[in-house]
Amino acid sequence: FWARVTELAKQSIGKQAYDFFIEPAQLMSVEQDTANILLDSGMKKDYWKKQSDLITTAGFEVFGRLVDYELYANDELTELELRRLNNQAPTEEPVTKNKAASPLVSGLNEKYNFENFVQGPGNRWTLAAAIAVADKPGDTYNPLFIYGGAGLGKTHLMHAIGNQILTDNPTARIKYVSSENFVNDYVNATRKNQMENFENTYRNLDLLLLDDVQFFSDKEGTKNEFFNTFNALYDKGSQIVLTSDRIPQELNNLEDRLVSRFSWGLTTDITAPDYETRMAILLIKSESSNLEFPSETLSYIAGQIDSNVRELEGALNRVEFVARANGIAVVDIETASQALRSLKNAVQQSLSNLTIKKIQDEVANYYHISFSDLVGPKRPKEIAFPRQIAMYLVRELLGTSLPAIGNAFGGRDHTTVMYAYRQISDKMKNDMDVQKDIDSIKRKF
Ligand code: ADP
Ligand code: MG
Repeated sequence: FWARVTELAKQSIGKQAYDFFIEPAQLMSVEQDTANILLDSGMKKDYWKKQSDLITTAGFEVFGRLVDYELYANDELTELELRRLNNQAPTEEPVTKNKAASPLVSGLNEKYNFENFVQGPGNRWTLAAAIAVADKPGDTYNPLFIYGGAGLGKTHLMHAIGNQILTDNPTARIKYVSSENFVNDYVNATRKNQMENFENTYRNLDLLLLDDVQFFSDKEGTKNEFFNTFNALYDKGSQIVLTSDRIPQELNNLEDRLVSRFSWGLTTDITAPDYETRMAILLIKSESSNLEFPSETLSYIAGQIDSNVRELEGALNRVEFVARANGIAVVDIETASQALRSLKNAVQQSLSNLTIKKIQDEVANYYHISFSDLVGPKRPKEIAFPRQIAMYLVRELLGTSLPAIGNAFGGRDHTTVMYAYRQISDKMKNDMDVQKDIDSIKRKF
């Protein structure tokens, strides 16, 4: 797997960048479909974050499935992480073969705790609930259901709860898992006749942190397993924490009997940070930098990015990168605005070359159908669906008018385009396969 990653990198990255960023990196292990990668410096994380294509491609080629990755840096490893990484011999299998012998992997990331979570009006109640849960797991709000938009701190709070409980009680059995990985674990367990292991792991937890339940796939069996896991944990008083991008009642991927259980405890939301909160977050994050960020510069950044903390961090990193590249030690607004401008330009640039034809070609290519079928009159599902996807993407990315899209697809009526757009928009809300398809196609642009 790693050999393939580096090979792909060699093909797509210049020699200097390869020697600097890729060569010194090491694969520590692959567990739970996550590759743990150790870098020689934390400064290189940003670069690696942008190399997801390498990991995804190699993952699909070698393991035949989606492999995610977690970055660690030698110069910022906490003692716990180091111990965790060293205890694990690198494996070439995403799932440990002998699960019975492997200890419980908590999946917790030490980096996320309550101390470095900035409180604001958008997250105050949820933070309070999370602290209450960490204080008396199983005893206050059970389950705790956190919902809110992307990049607002849901995952951070989950890890914070887990880390706190683990600190208070080092023998607590804790598992953080994304809904996707829960499903993968289950599927692997059934395939390898290891259901007993699976149930031993999941039904004996003191704390289950299940992230992004909107991505829970409706594969046969998985939902039932989740239902039974939930009941088993709940009955013995174990704490359950769930997150989602929407309220339980809007989770169309899960059955009512499960959704209603989600509301037994507390459902609480996180909304976008206000200006003061964004400033506080930038202040904390910029402290670890050896550059100086005057408050007017932070204020400028906080004013530019207003809806998503992950993007806010990304913007700060970008500014830091540009400042460093230009040898600037005290980061002024001019540098910040230059950095953020080029960020916006980069996105616009890649979109400015985009045409309807390019989108159609990519979509046809992706679904292995011909261009003429895509825009032609045929209507079987294998063709109609990619056609809807293509129309949706044209509308989303280029903002082309409905009649013009109809024209570009063999002279179809604008109501057909509208219908297609609605269909795919709806599916984007709860169909993980569609979300993934769209994501993969978009990445090609
Ligand atoms: P979500 O799971 O809601 O999509 P994350 O928990 O992954 O979002 O948060 C995205 C990034 O923003 C993380 O790096 C997280 O540490 C950071 N973050 C979000 N909210 C806060 C906050 N209130 N204070 C500090 N960092 C935050
Ligand atoms: Mg998250």
